[in-house]
Amino acid sequence: MFKRLKWPSWAVFCLFIMGIYFFISSGADTSLQAFSRTETTSPAAFPGLNLETRTKETKSYTLAISTPITEIENLNKPMKEWIQIQEKDFLELVKANRQVLDSEEFRAHLNIKAEPKKVSDTMYTLVFEAYQYTGGANGQAAVKTFTIDLANQKMVQLADVFHMDEESLTTLRTMITNQIGQKEELQNYLFDDLLDEALENPSSWKWSLSGKNFTLYFNEYEIAAGAAGAVKVKIPVEQIRSLLKDEIVQHLKLPEPEASEPETAPLDPNGKYIALTFDDGPHPKVTPLILDILKKHNAKATFYMLGSQAQFYPALASQVAEEGHEIGNHSDSHADLSSLGEKEIRKEMEEASTKIKEASGQLPATVRPPYGAMNEDVKKIAGMAHTPLILWSVDSLDWKTLNASAIQKIVKANAVPGSIVLMHDIHKPTAEALPDLLTHLEKEGYEFITVSQLLSLQEQEVTGTFFGKRS
Ligand code: ZN
Repeated sequence: MFKRLKWPSWAVFCLFIMGIYFFISSGADTSLQAFSRTETTSPAAFPGLNLETRTKETKSYTLAISTPITEIENLNKPMKEWIQIQEKDFLELVKANRQVLDSEEFRAHLNIKAEPKKVSDTMYTLVFEAYQYTGGANGQAAVKTFTIDLANQKMVQLADVFHMDEESLTTLRTMITNQIGQKEELQNYLFDDLLDEALENPSSWKWSLSGKNFTLYFNEYEIAAGAAGAVKVKIPVEQIRSLLKDEIVQHLKLPEPEASEPETAPLDPNGKYIALTFDDGPHPKVTPLILDILKKHNAKATFYMLGSQAQFYPALASQVAEEGHEIGNHSDSHADLSSLGEKEIRKEMEEASTKIKEASGQLPATVRPPYGAMNEDVKKIAGMAHTPLILWSVDSLDWKTLNASAIQKIVKANAVPGSIVLMHDIHKPTAEALPDLLTHLEKEGYEFITVSQLLSLQEQEVTGTFFGKRS
């Protein structure tokens, strides 16, 4: 059945020569004992990615390389190339250390692995880590990252992720520098100049992105002394949301940022509302007391701040805004605007606006002239700035009586729906009057809203002066 093969003697001789050749050449490479295999598995966690694992064992070294591969060759190519470079460097070192490796009781080792991080179902960052040991006290580690867009079959660059204008980049660099500065383990090891240098050129950054963090990777010795090892900085994506391009925000499926306006029920045109106003602050002792009481009653109020005070107490000014209250403009220095020239009036109002905005983040929408003092110039300038002049219909006279029960009495007697109540957040008796006053007005069915809310309820748009209703 079988034809007996008769090898011509020249063929046998050829095989013999080839055998000797392989024996000699592999004597250097010890591949006689080499054992090599490749496995591909498909992890379900990362659709579109397969994991190819290659291991090799020779007398002088072992290697294990685990590479995620895609169906898309131009995505695989740069990853393969990087791996080939690592492998080539490693084999060169093995060759150079041949004598040591042959005589010692150890083998050199190369390990390359990649950790996928999900940006979305079609976008992943692959963080490659290569570790090689070819003798000496320590091994060498190297990091490389690739972000792949499977849907568009392209590599994602940093410029696809972030707005790359100078301001955004500066913000990002500052955040990274601050995070690194906070790492205790880097104390005494960090080289600031190397860090600046590394951050200078974003196209060389090694970075990854996930639903949680933007991470930046540095190789050993890149920005810190060897003792510090490789450095990794994580920045939560919520913190850099404004720096991210829209397309990436969509990939990450980030929840919409919470609206700065607290969710409130729409106002009822026939509702029983009252606008409490507090002038001349913010005051370091009294304003916090008033904020506390308002919070307990879920009451919103309007604080007519002086620009100079807001500049002095910015944290308080921003707390007022954060707690949902309105901030109005009460001039910069509590000047009697009716005694000033046009230029000075404008300066008092504009400076206050700028300082309040800087301190609190809120741009005042209305003005309360100090002492209620106005003239045609004041009205004209306020009109040009589209900021209505807000007076009051109930004067608590808190500055005069400095007495909690007197304040309560006046306000209780005069408040009607639509009133604007004048008070000051610089006198302690005002704060003392509030708990009982608020409880009383609540029992009468009042709700406490801001001046702008009250204005929004008027039938006609308010452009000039506005006093609120009197009894
Ligand atoms: Zn005042």
